[in-house]
Amino acid sequence: MEVELKGVLSDLEALRRSAPADQSDPIDKLQLRIQHLTNLAKSEPIRRSKVKNMSVEVVDSNPYSRLMALQRMGIVENYERIREFSVAIVGIGGVGSVAAEMLTRCGIGRLLLYDYDTVELANMNRLFFRPEQVGMTKTDAAVQTLQDINPDVVLESYTLNITTVQGFETFMSSLTNKSFSPNKEGSGVDLVLSCVDNYEARMVVNQACNELNQTWMESGVSEDAVSGHIQLLIPGETACFACAPPLVVASGVDERTLKREGVCAASLPTTMGVVAGLLVQNTLKFLLKFGYVSPYLGYNSLKDFFPTMEMKPNPQCSNSACLERQKEYMLAKPARDAAARAKKEAEALATVQGPLHDDNEWNISVVDDNETENDADGQSAGALPEGLVRELPSADEYQKPTVSEETNDKLDDLEELRRQLEALNADS
Ligand SMILES: [Zn+2]
Repeated sequence: MEVELKGVLSDLEALRRSAPADQSDPIDKLQLRIQHLTNLAKSEPIRRSKVKNMSVEVVDSNPYSRLMALQRMGIVENYERIREFSVAIVGIGGVGSVAAEMLTRCGIGRLLLYDYDTVELANMNRLFFRPEQVGMTKTDAAVQTLQDINPDVVLESYTLNITTVQGFETFMSSLTNKSFSPNKEGSGVDLVLSCVDNYEARMVVNQACNELNQTWMESGVSEDAVSGHIQLLIPGETACFACAPPLVVASGVDERTLKREGVCAASLPTTMGVVAGLLVQNTLKFLLKFGYVSPYLGYNSLKDFFPTMEMKPNPQCSNSACLERQKEYMLAKPARDAAARAKKEAEALATVQGPLHDDNEWNISVVDDNETENDADGQSAGALPEGLVRELPSADEYQKPTVSEETNDKLDDLEELRRQLEALNADS
């Protein structure tokens, strides 16, 4: 484009020289316009090309170097696996669009985006969409932005309303399409993220996931914009969305009458950004198998309170597909228990010569006393690679000091602290 414009400019210059003096004025004007176009062409974004393999190479031109460092630091065992995963995001609004951008930047394999709405100026108090995208469908605008950020991600845009009969059919068939990973067990996606803003759409996602035995995560932000939550839903194993309906709709009030014309819910980019961050963090931990995957995590911004809980499925759930999944889950219990026992025994063998303390940094969870032992064993925080030290002692050192080791531990901690201080002094 730039080269062609330069050619036109030099042709015009030649023309101006050969033309009589009284005709040079329109040629000058044309030259100015071409010059302006050349400047515009220069400011066009440069697109990055696709990357075949995720490289660990630490160079400025590698879009994945900081992500692959997670592997080197022992947080994630195999980061590149992220390219095998498909995630469906229902609702590309304040939470969904930000979640989509985060997953795109993390290099997710494939994203399926669902929304029926268009971008409006009223959305500009949130992140992601830009004023020049007003009038575009949210899914198309999202694809436009996301493919520029990371062309390696396979993006599918579904402009439809999942609460209509036709929309639901397309939703179901897109979730079961296995063309991206033909050998995958179950449906065609690894996780569904619900980022919708109403009860009806949540119940539709719930129905689809119960029917397909599809694990999904739900997210929500309150109408006053100051609190939110995320929740993991595994059909048959945890409560589905119909097992424990939220109180506001349990009263039978039609939410469409709650949202009256001109009465507008509040929204903040901060709360939506936090909830999207919690949702995608849980998604990464679930997919790449590191850390603790939260079954439920709330966020109250006024008190900076993050409540957690676990919800068992309701045997009297009104959703028949949920009851089917519950039955299957119970039938598979003996096999599951045997597998868990075998895994624990294998881990016990492997840790015989392991470190004195199992690292469990930040993994604070409220669990039954009997389960504490299992959970601590089940986490894969592991020892840090050579040359790295933790800033704080691991949680276990505070929670489970044995009487006989206490003095030694303290001495060790002091010794460790002294070493770290010395190292700091040596650096400065
Ligand atoms: Zn249920």
